[in-house]
Amino acid sequence: MCCRGPIILRLDPDEVTGFYRAAAGLGTEARVSRAPDGGGNVLFLDQPGEHCPMLDSATSACRIYDRRPRVCREFPRKREPGCAISEWITPEPEPDQTP
Ligand code: SF4
Repeated sequence: MCCRGPIILRLDPDEVTGFYRAAAGLGTEARVSRAPDGGGNVLFLDQPGEHCPMLDSATSACRIYDRRPRVCREFPRKREPGCAISEWITPEPEPDQTP
């Protein structure tokens, strides 16, 4: 459920225009707050349906999967309990507790 809920999707500066265009092409609206560096922030709770505007709410599929933003392509960065798509990541080793 990482494309829904109280999450902010960060867009790189060179992704903002494409994100707007993709939303328009899908017949949906993307509400993007511009960041000082020219990037964008997509607060899912501010979007219709409280999920990413690129998410197909019926199937939970990403409608721009082949051109999804960088942070989506790189997600997840670490193993998360309960997140099935992160289970391929090798867990961090426990710190050495030897005195
Ligand atoms: S662009 Fe696709 S993968 Fe990224 S948050 Fe939106 S629906 Fe999920």
